Amino acid sequence: MTAKTKACSKCGETKPASGFHPDKTKKSGLRSWCRECQNGATSAYGKAHPEDNNRRTRAAFERSQAESIARAANNGKEWTGPELELVADLSRSQSDIASALGRTVAAVKNQRRYLRTDPRKARMAGI
Ligand SMILES: [Zn+2]
Repeated sequence: MTAKTKACSKCGETKPASGFHPDKTKKSGLRSWCRECQNGATSAYGKAHPEDNNRRTRAAFERSQAESIARAANNGKEWTGPELELVADLSRSQSDIASALGRTVAAVKNQRRYLRTDPRKARMAGI
């Protein structure tokens, strides 16, 4: 249950629920500061700590690059029989198999499709 209006604990103004960011950790389901106060504080913090922002941005970039390189390692690599056997095991989820093989979920999905349509792949998987 969310109240229709709420008073901001920073500026004290009473505003409609849509004037607050959602927050699942709060009983009301809303942040205690209104959007304007929250946005102002967030932007002020970013201006006061530019190095913090750069560090987060760089960390996110490096994480995404590392994931991308890890995925690319197996890109275009032939699928082996044992790998295809795993792919053919429908009791396991695609993301589970992808992480076990170091392949992408999309690649596993494609191989499952090939197993259904390409008899040569199916033979390699032993089915
Ligand atoms: Zn406010």
